[in-house]
Amino acid sequence: MFTPVKDRSVMVTGGSKGIGKGIASVFAKAGAKVLVVARTLADAEAAAEEFSQAGGTASGFSADVNDLSSMQAACAAAAERHGGLDVLCANAGIFPQANIEAMDPEEWDDVLGTNLRGTFISVKACLPELKKCGKGRVVVTSSITGPVTGFPGWTHYGASKAGQLGFIRTACIELAKYGITVNAVMPGNILTEGLIELGEDYLTTMAASVPLKRLGIVEDIGNAALFLATEEAAYITGQTIIVDGGQILPESLEALEEA
Ligand code: NAP
Repeated sequence: MFTPVKDRSVMVTGGSKGIGKGIASVFAKAGAKVLVVARTLADAEAAAEEFSQAGGTASGFSADVNDLSSMQAACAAAAERHGGLDVLCANAGIFPQANIEAMDPEEWDDVLGTNLRGTFISVKACLPELKKCGKGRVVVTSSITGPVTGFPGWTHYGASKAGQLGFIRTACIELAKYGITVNAVMPGNILTEGLIELGEDYLTTMAASVPLKRLGIVEDIGNAALFLATEEAAYITGQTIIVDGGQILPESLEALEEA
């Protein structure tokens, strides 16, 4: 039995939709006090309202992970509303597709800005409160795409997601002296609004390539993030958990078909 995360203060960036909403809902159900952060305040508040209706403690806040002062304001809001900040789930991310030949340098900068610089900014902004709590947790949402696999159109995205793992491996060393652990969850293909926008063909082909024969659900990632935030995960830092239904493992289509 894990020690409950009840009453711990948790911030989830990108918590208004998709995987972030799944992470936020898992923490809210477990009794944590959740600050849902996204740029669109109405969406952040709507998600928080859903969690509150279900008996949780949550509120929304508008901030851009690419902007230090707005993330400092988010951290201040968590401290004021929930008495501090114990867990940062640095999850916000974007994944527009463009092949190298068609990609503008600005698009590269946008993706790296939100996904990689945004991870650094989120951690930097939340650090004063995470230090105060003495056993802070940072859980980054990376991906299998980039660190392990590739997909046409996602050179920038893959670079940002691999970059996050480089970030956590040094951040965990720097922050160990404050009792803060820094880990990452690496989702496979998870059914979210963002993924649905990639089209039915993409979803069907991806589901067929997963040994467990389904796309993931957002709570699959939320549960992994919750584990990394528990007391019992205190000695795990700088590590990754792949949550992908086994997708990265088959060597070929034959390997899947023969099973
Ligand atoms: P999504 O459904 O498109 O949701 C993205 C969330 O991030 C929204 O809440 C969005 O709200 C917020 N956001 C985007 N840019 C932001 C910014 N600059 N500042 C603050 N919030 C921002 O995406 P998702 O599929 O759940 O993906 C979430 C994370 O999981 C990403 O890091 C992604 O790389 C990772 N991931 C996803 C999958 C998948 O299968 N879906 C697989 C592997 C990894 P606003 O637009 O209102 O800001």
